[in-house]
Amino acid sequence: MIHPHTELRRIDPVLGYGVFATDFIPKGTITFAKDPFDVEVTPEQFDAMSELLKNQTERYSYMDERGIRIVSWDLAKYVNHRCNCNTLSTGYGFEIAIQDIQPGDEITDDYGLFNVTEPMTLTCACPNCRGQIRPDDLDTCYPEWDRKVQDALPLMLHVTQPLWSLLDPDTIEQVTGYLADRRQYKSVTTLKANAGPQIIELRDVMTHQTPHYQDKPLRTARREH
Ligand SMILES: [Zn+2]
Repeated sequence: MIHPHTELRRIDPVLGYGVFATDFIPKGTITFAKDPFDVEVTPEQFDAMSELLKNQTERYSYMDERGIRIVSWDLAKYVNHRCNCNTLSTGYGFEIAIQDIQPGDEITDDYGLFNVTEPMTLTCACPNCRGQIRPDDLDTCYPEWDRKVQDALPLMLHVTQPLWSLLDPDTIEQVTGYLADRRQYKSVTTLKANAGPQIIELRDVMTHQTPHYQDKPLRTARREH
């Protein structure tokens, strides 16, 4: 479910629709959290779909770390990509405002965190535009995304959170654990589809050289990061 202080607006024939803030949404606010009405499409269900349904599912879904496509039932599926977006997916599953969002601002996020299976050409033309969403964006862009998420997370307990009730107990425990001990951060790399626990754990080691992780082995195979 997307933050309730949003509305759908028609932008133009190329971009189609977008989601806009109807009220001030401060940095640190959860802007999207999965809820029970969202539709889950397994790889088997996707493969069995007609081309028409596949195209629409690809267009309006994101893929989670299990490799399952999630189609949001509400406005969330109309949120557009910007390379300088104002919200980001987190390793905890929800999305968070990484800057203050003013009434009338478009809510945007980065599709690089959505596990796209094919490169996607961008029309956003934002400053420092990447030009393309690539399946390996998570591997290359995660340090910047982690930095922005870590910058916003500490504000979570200081702003109004209309979507807080959608978080499951495990997620709440992980987030409050991080806020109590910053070494327990869950990187956005954990969103990578079907990455497996070993790779995820290793990336955490590579990103966060803290005493908390130093007893875990480093493998030379991932050192290009
Ligand atoms: Zn761009």
